[in-house]
Amino acid sequence: MARRKLRDASPLAPKARLPYSEAMSKNPDILVVGAGAAGLSAGIALAKAGHSVVVAGQVETRQTARTVALFDASLGFYESIGLLGEIEARGAPLEVMRIVDDTGSLFRLPQRDFVANEIGLDAFGFNIENHDLIGLLVDAAHAAPGLTLVEGRLDHFRFDETEASGRLDNGERVAARLIIAADGRRSAVRDAAGIEVTETAYPQTALTALLSHTRPHREISTEFHTRAGPFTLVPLPARDGDPNRSSLVWMMKPAEAERLAALPEMDLARAIEKQAHSMLGKMRLTGPCGLFPMGLMQAKRLTGDRVALVGDAAHSFPPIGAQGLNLGLRDVGHLVETTNGKSDPGDSAVLEDYSQRRNADIRLRTSGVDLLNRSLLTQFLPVDFLRGAGLLALSGFGPLRRAIMREGVAPSGRTPAMMRREAQWANKL
Ligand SMILES: Cc1cc2nc3c(=O)[nH]c(=O)nc-3n(C[C@H](O)[C@H](O)[C@H](O)COP(=O)(O)OP(=O)(O)OC[C@H]3O[C@@H](n4cnc5c(N)ncnc54)[C@H](O)[C@@H]3O)c2cc1C
Repeated sequence: MARRKLRDASPLAPKARLPYSEAMSKNPDILVVGAGAAGLSAGIALAKAGHSVVVAGQVETRQTARTVALFDASLGFYESIGLLGEIEARGAPLEVMRIVDDTGSLFRLPQRDFVANEIGLDAFGFNIENHDLIGLLVDAAHAAPGLTLVEGRLDHFRFDETEASGRLDNGERVAARLIIAADGRRSAVRDAAGIEVTETAYPQTALTALLSHTRPHREISTEFHTRAGPFTLVPLPARDGDPNRSSLVWMMKPAEAERLAALPEMDLARAIEKQAHSMLGKMRLTGPCGLFPMGLMQAKRLTGDRVALVGDAAHSFPPIGAQGLNLGLRDVGHLVETTNGKSDPGDSAVLEDYSQRRNADIRLRTSGVDLLNRSLLTQFLPVDFLRGAGLLALSGFGPLRRAIMREGVAPSGRTPAMMRREAQWANKL
């Protein structure tokens, strides 16, 4: 990964309204429901692979207080669809991942640093604002031959042996050989296909914010493990005259999150600075904060008749270790590979292949995040000890630490060809 100098990239202004197109194919090979990061990424990659695709959903163009850290395999995905340079230009590299045990536990660990250089990389990945990523994807979707992007919701889904369809909110019905459910955690497609989920609500809300601060982050992402959940500061690039910027995800009890979010901005900034032990100096919020209730959800099946789930429609969990979209893009990468060259991308054998490839990865990430989150919330000493011992073992023992770092950025197992960055990893594993 070439080291890039941070530069003042101006925010994108994606095209807001996308009218129904007269030229839109009402019978594409593939209908993607949901125009979030997973849906747009799927639409572009599948269209580039030669399928005719309609992506339908509401495009979120507002600047939110959210960013996404994209790791190596995800960068490989975006390299394959020609967006890596733009992502690197608008994001900040993550060179060090620091874990600070702020639980006050008897078995408190010393600060641990995971350094990208140790596994031969300049950076583990890049952190980019959500609306910048969506803006890039919308522009790429407009430019992709074979892809029509339609703004609007779909409902009244139908699935049978030969095709699946959904109704646009102008009353038109779009039918395809395959529907990809990329419509998020509360997926209506998943419900209509009769796919059940297992779900757990956590007693936590994530407060998010974009911050300007007086000290540089030095490309270090810092995760403080507190009793209420992680408090994570992730580097952002300089912008709009702010040389030092970071994003915050702070998990805590819902009532406390509500209380903090209602504070005047300066008081909230002071509370954030205090929680960060003034590590980045004085803080200032550069926009409104966001609140996200935390929970864990996993679909019991990834496929049904002529339907495949990707992204948060298939799995969703708290933002610990920045796994959510990275996992969702691996869903998309495998779907691109399993449908590649198939005249019928919704054929049951294709969907079975997709399902088999994805189950283990999804189960592993979901249970790993669940375990770590629960171990933070408990005050039970033996659990504290095990969490401390586990982190100590993986951070203190070089080969294990490096294996874990590699697993975090480029998971083992079958990685879809379009997500592999052989040149990047050559001679480094
Ligand atoms: C605070 C926070 C921080 C995070 N940080 C990271 C990180 O650093 N790295 C990482 O990898 N992940 C991170 N995640 C997770 C990541 O944001 C999600 O996994 C990702 O955004 C999911 O994208 P998606 O496209 O699957 O779903 P969504 O973003 O939920 O998009 C679904 C889309 O479908 C649309 N839709 C819904 N119903 C319909 C319908 N009936 N018809 C048409 N459209 C419909 C919605 O309007 C929406 O646009 C974070 C999450 C949170 C909450």
